[in-house]
Amino acid sequence: MAAAAPDHLVRAIGLGGRARAVAALTTATAEELRRIHDPSPQVAAALARLATGALLLAASLEKATAREPMLTLEVEGGGPAGRLVATASPAGWVRATVANPLAASATRNDGRLDVAAVVGASGHLVVTRDPGVAEPYRGVVALETGDLAKDLAAYLAGSEQSPAAVLLGVLLVPAGRVEVAGGFLVQLLPGVSDDEAAALSDRVRAFGPLSADLRAGRGPREWLAMTFPDGCSVLEEVPVRFHCGCSTERVETALKLLGIGEIRAAMDEDNDRQASVTCGFCRRVYRVPRLRLLELIREIESERTRP
Ligand SMILES: [Zn+2]
Repeated sequence: MAAAAPDHLVRAIGLGGRARAVAALTTATAEELRRIHDPSPQVAAALARLATGALLLAASLEKATAREPMLTLEVEGGGPAGRLVATASPAGWVRATVANPLAASATRNDGRLDVAAVVGASGHLVVTRDPGVAEPYRGVVALETGDLAKDLAAYLAGSEQSPAAVLLGVLLVPAGRVEVAGGFLVQLLPGVSDDEAAALSDRVRAFGPLSADLRAGRGPREWLAMTFPDGCSVLEEVPVRFHCGCSTERVETALKLLGIGEIRAAMDEDNDRQASVTCGFCRRVYRVPRLRLLELIREIESERTRP
């Protein structure tokens, strides 16, 4: 196996601008998510797939100056893992969380990790695009498989009216560490001919499991070459990494949104001295002292009485 390349994402246009592709290597990022959440192997795979999918979809957001553009995927599949959330930026960072990290299911007959069994396939996928310049907009699709790749493709086909293929791959070593992870998205754009579309989808269908490809040392550049044998234009290559972005300020804002009752309950739990708040995305623990909690309560009260 070739030396592991650092995580990165490549955005490209092929067929003279009539198809776009995003390819990402996310091994180290997926391993960081696994280290943070300490999940079962199936949930580690689900987090890796969801985070990679979020990066692939976020890559199409335009850069904005007012706010950082972001894309959030939320999955409520009704499976034992509970709700999964991943947020990514076109700048290449991603974070993800899951309600029940230790959810597990029997291994499939072929030994592959059964992501759909922990995610479930009876709920829905919510995609929130925050373009950073206008109000965020949400799209919802019913989950079809719970394996996440086909669900993301169904979302793109439905919401953007353009057929897309999404491939996600992750492989864990027996000890549990993420060995490889990555994803590939191909989307047809207006103007593509039926023949071009058929040839492109044949080439994407001929892909084996991405995880096997990654293990063999292939990655984003090779997938692009396989998909566009006549060449493609690389628009951008960005490094990919885990990043949370939480802060004391954001934790305090979240506490205020919970309301006075919840803040008082948090104070009681911690002997009235402080409240401990754990960030669901990075597991960092914030301790908010009692004096600050009382200030937050006063702020809520004064905002309420403001005319
Ligand atoms: Zn955090």
